[in-house]
Amino acid sequence: SKVLVTGGNGFVAAQVIIAILSLETPYSVVATVRDEIKGTQTKEALRSKLGDKVDNLSFAVVPDIEADDAFKAVMDNNDFVAVLHTATPFHLRAKDPKEITGPAIGSTKSILKTANGRASIKRVIITSSFASIVDLPQGTRPGYKYTEKDWHPITWEKTHSGDPVDAYYGAKTWAERAAWDFVKEENPTFELITLCPPMVFGEVAQYIKSADQLNTSSASLYNVLVGKDKEVSPQAVMIWVNVKDLAKAHALAIAAPGAGNHRFLIAGDQPYTNKEISDAFIKHFPEFAPKVPTKLPEGVDANGVPIGGRYTGDNSLSKQLLGMTYQNFEDTMVQFADSVKNLPATS
Ligand code: NDP
Repeated sequence: SKVLVTGGNGFVAAQVIIAILSLETPYSVVATVRDEIKGTQTKEALRSKLGDKVDNLSFAVVPDIEADDAFKAVMDNNDFVAVLHTATPFHLRAKDPKEITGPAIGSTKSILKTANGRASIKRVIITSSFASIVDLPQGTRPGYKYTEKDWHPITWEKTHSGDPVDAYYGAKTWAERAAWDFVKEENPTFELITLCPPMVFGEVAQYIKSADQLNTSSASLYNVLVGKDKEVSPQAVMIWVNVKDLAKAHALAIAAPGAGNHRFLIAGDQPYTNKEISDAFIKHFPEFAPKVPTKLPEGVDANGVPIGGRYTGDNSLSKQLLGMTYQNFEDTMVQFADSVKNLPATS
């Protein structure tokens, strides 16, 4: 059987494809990309990880994911058992919030509408985000444990205020809300699953030519590794997940019994600090160590933990219904740095 993965050339999607093609009983994967060349490059990049298994991967070009019928042709041409929607603009430099909200919300609505009524499709799995869970203005929120019951209370107005961070957080929130509204209103033929990861870190497997093409979350780590950051930065998000664990959650969500119509917080067992990023790089990558920042920002203790404490995340539902387990932070930092240490800075 076959599954559809959107945004196939992305950081998360590359690992999702690897996870699905590595399952004991793998599905074949059709991945959407905006240009044909991105498909070819992705396939070559993944061949080094997957060997011949990569032959079960093919691509479909969807230039505009926001269009109403964006996914119609690919769904007409293939009988998918599941649709995994990862594509979203993820950067924090939008000049106009609509650059983010338009594709994020529009693609979510169009993919659900197009999947509805197709008998083969049992599940639609949407890569949402902790951005749709966290109450950002509450800051470090000492002692609070976020769960799937929490929703980011950001308003439509604040989403469109012009701040690129609000645009991204709002886009993820409204896109996921639109998905659950669709389920409530349309009672679709498939089950919906949304996966909400916080900061996603780990091995970079997607095709890139140079470090300046890294995705947003990997770029933030890279700036620490190569000493572009001169100090340990203050931290907005306290929790994280290994990208391979997030990918495994996507692969398990395709068929895990009882997981349908659930929202999952997909997060590592422990919170992290930006100091632990520096510590891991210094310990394991002596060639980079002299440049890695160690000067702590104000308001944190010697371990980089905000004074007064911080929130945590509850990943127990993902363990219970998806059978998830999570890797530790230090290993994740090593996986990241190993995958990027030989990249040229620019191309
Ligand atoms: P990437 O930037 O690596 O991947 C984003 C993917 O979406 C790319 O394939 C990109 O294609 C595609 N895309 C972006 N904008 C558009 C558009 N307008 N039309 C069509 N395709 C588009 O990011 P990640 O892999 O990190 O993100 C994947 C998903 O995971 C997103 O939904 C993101 O919100 C979510 N997420 C990521 C986190 C992280 O820390 N990385 C944290 C929480 C959630 P192209 O290359 O052509 O632009």
